[in-house]
Amino acid sequence: MKYVLALDQGTTSSRSLIFDSEGHIVSTAQQEFNQYFPQSGWVEHDALEIYDTQLKTLRQAVDGVDVSEIGAIGITNQRETVVVWDRNTGEPIHKAIVWQDRRTADFCEDLKEKGLFNTIREKTGLPIDAYFSATKVHWLLQNVSGALERAEKGELLLGTIDTWLIWKMTGGKSHLTDMTNASRTMLFNIKTLKWDDELLQIFGIPKSMLPEVVASSSPFGSYELDGYQIPISGVAGDQQAALFGQGCLEKGDAKNTYGTGCFLLMNQGQDFALSDHGLVTTLACSLDEKPVYAFEGSVFVAGAAIQWLRDGLEIIETAGETQSLAESVDTDDVVLVPAFVGLGTPYWDMYARGAVFGLSRDTGRAHFAKAALQAIAFQTRDITEAMIKDGGLKPETLKVDGGATANEYLMQFQSDIMDMEILRARNAETTALGAAFLAGLQVGFWSIVDVSKLSSQGISYTPKMQEGKRNELYGNWSKAVSRTLGWLKN
Ligand code: ADP
Repeated sequence: MKYVLALDQGTTSSRSLIFDSEGHIVSTAQQEFNQYFPQSGWVEHDALEIYDTQLKTLRQAVDGVDVSEIGAIGITNQRETVVVWDRNTGEPIHKAIVWQDRRTADFCEDLKEKGLFNTIREKTGLPIDAYFSATKVHWLLQNVSGALERAEKGELLLGTIDTWLIWKMTGGKSHLTDMTNASRTMLFNIKTLKWDDELLQIFGIPKSMLPEVVASSSPFGSYELDGYQIPISGVAGDQQAALFGQGCLEKGDAKNTYGTGCFLLMNQGQDFALSDHGLVTTLACSLDEKPVYAFEGSVFVAGAAIQWLRDGLEIIETAGETQSLAESVDTDDVVLVPAFVGLGTPYWDMYARGAVFGLSRDTGRAHFAKAALQAIAFQTRDITEAMIKDGGLKPETLKVDGGATANEYLMQFQSDIMDMEILRARNAETTALGAAFLAGLQVGFWSIVDVSKLSSQGISYTPKMQEGKRNELYGNWSKAVSRTLGWLKN
């Protein structure tokens, strides 16, 4: 065995990457697929197209590699997106409903009015929201002609994207998911580690549709490639895979991914806890049947604020330019709150809207660039503050990855404003690497010591800001945020 193959099935593209034993990328391939927006707020994918593009990239990635030397396949995927298909024909009954889809928002409001918020949160760790899979499955069964009847007869199967890919790749032999993906469905009881009968009843979902749930590093079946049976032996949702790929294996270890938005996850070990500060409780990757919990916080607009400067305001040409612009400004007078779609953790305010404070006659585009980068860092600190309040743990180091971590100004400011070491991953592909680690561990390609070692290398940023300055800047941010909350209501 020389390699592990990772399939990274994302929201806009399918990718395949081959890693060697040092965790280096040997080859990669990527293909975008169609996004369907049949109505305002609805987002769908064609599950067959997802499978097709995934396999095409797999083929491209293994081109030039001796297939007999691939020891295992790991899968990581966009989370919460759900497919329902016919167990005999393999035909999806409808397009996949994507995590971004809001069609079930009203149904979620009804559930809250029925007083189910706490019941669901205590079992699943999740707030009732259209984001998670359960209400999407409910919608499919209620709205696709004959679906509920067929489901009750045991003719239909459901799965998140990992489950769908595994089922297809094993020729229908394996109908499985891992705990991280199960924990995002709002049907899985993350304390008992079982599908929850009461929740299945609330959402009207027959149990026969559900995949079996196993640990993230487990035998999921095998995929036949050029006559070789390659084990599929690691599976995790994208954010949990990144947590694992960053080597956040111990309680208190945390990572933040800076993309369009930010996802910050902190390993909470084997202690189940609910947050009082707007964090979601979720399952992290586990190597055996024992659960590993994590707190998760999200920022809706992070790198997207930089896109807005580029494509909306048209005051920059490239995202990378914000670094030198930010460095050219000595003052910190301008504060941007990019609450373009409301605010996530810890505020959870859908009615907040964006604002810019502290403008003066000499404010220019460089101030906007600096304020946008600082806003990413402030929002990240907001999440870690919530985690510290809930769990009492302040991580010594925040491990980071994602497109915007290329920005050195952002990384240094992040360290300064949190008074914490920031460790940027050596390998930018931490999500795929996490899936590869899970798969490789299962087949003995790597040991857990290897995983710690291979994930711990990176570039470190340490705090340089005086405490008084840090408190002043974060205080200004908090003041600015408070003025945007509830904007649409007042
Ligand atoms: P996603 O997976 O969400 O598409 P990526 O990890 O590819 O995100 O990161 C892309 C995001 O990072 C974009 O929103 C972009 O504006 C931002 N970004 C990329 N490079 C930089 C940079 N040098 N400085 C600041 N932001 C950047």
